[in-house]
Amino acid sequence: MVFRLARRAWGSRSICASRFPSSSLSYSSSCSSSHPLHVCVVGSGPAGFYTAEKMLKSHKGAEVDIIDRLPTPFGLVRSGVAPDHPETKVVLAYGAESDRVLGVPGEDLAGIYSAREFVWWYNGHPDCNTLSPDLRTTDTAIVLGQGNVALDVARVLLRDSAALATTDIAEHALVALAESSIRKVYLVGRRGPAQAACTAKELREILGIKNLHVHIQEADLKLSYLDEEELKNSRIQKRVYELFCKGASQHLNTTSCQRELHFVFFRKPDSFLQSDTEGRVSGVHLEKTVLKETGTGKQSAFGSGQFEDLQAGLVLKSIGYKSLSIDGLPFDSHRGIVPNIRGRVLRDGSEPHLLEKGLYVAGWLKRGPTGIIATNLYCSEETVYSISEDIEQGKFTETADMRLGRAGLVQLLENRGITYVTFSDWEKIDCIERAAGNRKNKPREKIASWGELLRAAKA
Ligand SMILES: Cc1cc2nc3c(=O)[nH]c(=O)nc-3n(C[C@H](O)[C@H](O)[C@H](O)COP(=O)(O)OP(=O)(O)OC[C@H]3O[C@@H](n4cnc5c(N)ncnc54)[C@H](O)[C@@H]3O)c2cc1C
Repeated sequence: MVFRLARRAWGSRSICASRFPSSSLSYSSSCSSSHPLHVCVVGSGPAGFYTAEKMLKSHKGAEVDIIDRLPTPFGLVRSGVAPDHPETKVVLAYGAESDRVLGVPGEDLAGIYSAREFVWWYNGHPDCNTLSPDLRTTDTAIVLGQGNVALDVARVLLRDSAALATTDIAEHALVALAESSIRKVYLVGRRGPAQAACTAKELREILGIKNLHVHIQEADLKLSYLDEEELKNSRIQKRVYELFCKGASQHLNTTSCQRELHFVFFRKPDSFLQSDTEGRVSGVHLEKTVLKETGTGKQSAFGSGQFEDLQAGLVLKSIGYKSLSIDGLPFDSHRGIVPNIRGRVLRDGSEPHLLEKGLYVAGWLKRGPTGIIATNLYCSEETVYSISEDIEQGKFTETADMRLGRAGLVQLLENRGITYVTFSDWEKIDCIERAAGNRKNKPREKIASWGELLRAAKA
């Protein structure tokens, strides 16, 4: 249903899915009775689509254009959601395209990747098609983090590659995973099983992988009084904790397992270990942690001064995505978001707060990289509500440029000599990908290079 709505929005107004220079990003909106409302949405992920859909529903005759830096739409639905999660790829701002850093020694060693890069690689994102993580010279991977993205990458590493062959995973990743020698994955978290950041669905899924020996230390499952208080206040967290308990007992006697998953709680990375050869990572120097109440009702992890090493030839950092700042756009670099009040963009450093007229934000760029696809629905609704309120209160002054709407946008692209891909160009890519997928019993075979994507678009 969401897909139909999105397609209707896109189909009736040709969309520019283009490589658009950051400096020319703008969001304009006009509202006089004699001219339709023109809205330009930057980013075609869930937040962009939901915003377009809500705008079209709440403003009859509005014209919405969505632009994206890629020649393919749908943001993380295409390049984030794991290939073996097809039920969430129904369809549907510019999201978060960078990574938080740990800031510990050795972080730049070869063999260490962010989960975002790894996910982009297996999902065929054209910016990561040459990543080529070495999955053959080590049998052990460490994933730093215990959220859903961490579980996704661990699952992809541990699943039998035959089970991934009928998904829309990128071909280069499927080949590498089929040849992978990784048999052991450590999932490392700073806090305990009562605080793990994953959801029950994802945890159940990984614990259910066939022929997988799951290791959870019984001692880590022991709850403190403060843990119990935290669990009383969160049904979701309680369910996750119960699953860890079940997983610990269920797998104790399994002997014929080929692969191992180790949950390592109460540890934080102190530095990365370097192998003697070629400056590659050989493991992580971890500090044990203790939890302390911080006055927020939640416990935080603090270093205990005790250390241990964990050996591995591949390390994936799953510690959070981060939005990029764009020249001329207000940006809160501490929080990695565009500063806003209910979606209205705040002028950089203004005190008291001043609003950037006609500029709004939605999705991960508005609230940070948290939440599932559906969370962006409510987030976009709030932003559209703010736009509607501003229109009603006559807060926009229309300029001649604004009146041009999509024609103005196309003119701007052409004046700057930017080659852009339209929605019907994307449909050609889509068609080619589906046909290639069909031949291999896959939903689609994603085209993973810029050159090929642009050739397919203009075929
Ligand atoms: C690895 C991973 C797995 C996930 N799995 C699930 C799942 O199974 N189920 C679920 O419900 N949720 C899942 N999520 C969460 C979900 O994907 C996000 O909530 C959602 O995609 C955020 O939407 P967004 O539109 O804000 O950002 P995005 O989806 O990131 O979309 C941003 C869009 O903006 C474009 N863009 C970036 N920079 C520019 C620019 N300068 N100019 C123009 N366009 C630009 C990008 O190309 C992209 O198309 C997952 C997230 C990750 C990271």
